[in-house]
Amino acid sequence: MGAYKIALLPGDGIGPEVMKEALKVLKAVEGALADLRFQCREYPIGARCYLEKGSDLPAETMKACKESDAILFGSAGLPDVKYADGTEIAPQLTLRFTLDLYAGIRPIKKYPGIRPVLAGDPPIDYVILRENTEGLYASRGGGVRVGNELAVDNMVITRKGTERIVQYAFRLAQKRKGASADGRKRVTCVDKANVLRSMAFFREVFDRVAASFPGIEAEHTYVDAMTLYMVQRPRWFDVVVMENMFGDILSDLAAGTIGGMGVAPSADVGDTYGLFQPSHGSAPDIAGKGIANPVAQILSAALMLDWLGEKKGDPAAQRGAQAIEAAIAEVLKDPRYHPPDLGGKAPTGAVGDAVAVKVAGAK
Ligand code: ATP
Repeated sequence: MGAYKIALLPGDGIGPEVMKEALKVLKAVEGALADLRFQCREYPIGARCYLEKGSDLPAETMKACKESDAILFGSAGLPDVKYADGTEIAPQLTLRFTLDLYAGIRPIKKYPGIRPVLAGDPPIDYVILRENTEGLYASRGGGVRVGNELAVDNMVITRKGTERIVQYAFRLAQKRKGASADGRKRVTCVDKANVLRSMAFFREVFDRVAASFPGIEAEHTYVDAMTLYMVQRPRWFDVVVMENMFGDILSDLAAGTIGGMGVAPSADVGDTYGLFQPSHGSAPDIAGKGIANPVAQILSAALMLDWLGEKKGDPAAQRGAQAIEAAIAEVLKDPRYHPPDLGGKAPTGAVGDAVAVKVAGAK
């Protein structure tokens, strides 16, 4: 098919370091698959950009995001750079709201070769679906603060917002092979319906949508219990869906169960646009040392190709995604390519090189 226009937003901290490796791998995909081409162009974003240009998301960057086929994002934000209200620079949140990227997709997959985190090293393979545009984070910038006495943020749950994320969850379950424990297709609603009215409403809408997918098992769990189950019986889960802040918190816990932030990719998609970024932040504690794990960024590029393939009806893009995932799975079996966060000594560039070599061999 044609060439895809990709807006590259490397951002802050380790963002540019891991983005460089994802680009190496995309080049290898082009080499391996003759009918797949990328026109990649970099744009400024993030905390450094805020200091230099007075904006964390300049108009030219937003325009490029809207005009591209997909957005590949690194990470943005640095602990010492803040907006006037004391919150951290987070243009990724602005992009989610502006481009209506309502579905936060976080595949939670444990690759063989990564040292076991949970007892018995269960084969973990499920997807967290996080509602990205409402929930508690809808209050961002709009909460109330009364001097030094009181501050309030609100949880926003709408019928439309809940319906579309829950429908996305069930459609995703239709495409997957089911839970690794029993092969059953299952969608789990994670909420706090026993305490909050907003969450009881979320569950009610979930149940109504679930009724239109009779072939898929639907269940509920409270968010506090879910943290326990994710550690005790992660194989039970297939697709799990929840509001924004719960999804933010649980995805970090989930990443911990599969080896850490360095191996956890994500996709933020809506009906028109798609943005792909590692689940981790800018990791200023390791930035500039050449030791960041690029796997999450590379897997995010694979999610991008899979999404493009489905959206544009392009099997070559989907083959590209599969080639990257297969290469990552192969490379991670070899501890020589494990960076320090996985207990090894491999520098960032060595991991990217190894994945690119495997991809180049794919046909
Ligand atoms: P944000 O709020 O922007 O998501 P955060 O404050 O949750 O960011 P991260 O930047 O994700 O924090 O980093 C959390 C921890 O994980 C840090 O110790 C960091 O070094 C580590 N980490 C994150 N990403 C990677 C990576 N790609 N490779 C190795 N370690 C990483």
